[in-house]
Amino acid sequence: MNGGLTELDDLYREIILDHYRHPRNHDPLPNADRMAEGANPLCGDEVCVQVCLNGDAIERIAAWGRGCSISGSSASLMTEAVRGKPVAEAERMRRAFEQMMTEEHAEPDADLGDAEALHGVAKFPVRIKCALLPWKTLGQALENAAN
Ligand code: ZN
Repeated sequence: MNGGLTELDDLYREIILDHYRHPRNHDPLPNADRMAEGANPLCGDEVCVQVCLNGDAIERIAAWGRGCSISGSSASLMTEAVRGKPVAEAERMRRAFEQMMTEEHAEPDADLGDAEALHGVAKFPVRIKCALLPWKTLGQALENAAN
């Protein structure tokens, strides 16, 4: 555990640690429609995101990689947040999450569910990129979907 996490609210810390230790949607998808890889060189985090689309909805999603507790937890929380959602809604959630992490008084215009547990990480600038990485990578995967 490198910094920051111990200062977070207990409930949020529980959620973050639970997703780090037991990542959801963690197995690679055999027939993914879209895929993107992302890295955060500052911390050494790497993540791969795969998406199976059904029409314009994210039917299945997987994310895995290696890195710190924040990036790992954020990847798991992200998959749970957007699974089953239309691509447009996932995009809205991605923007809301970015806003939550980078604007002090943001009121995100999307319900991020448990992913809001990461809000406290915004207080630790060095960890923000860790939390954003899986969402950025999702954005890249979905961008590929338009091609
Ligand atoms: Zn990290």
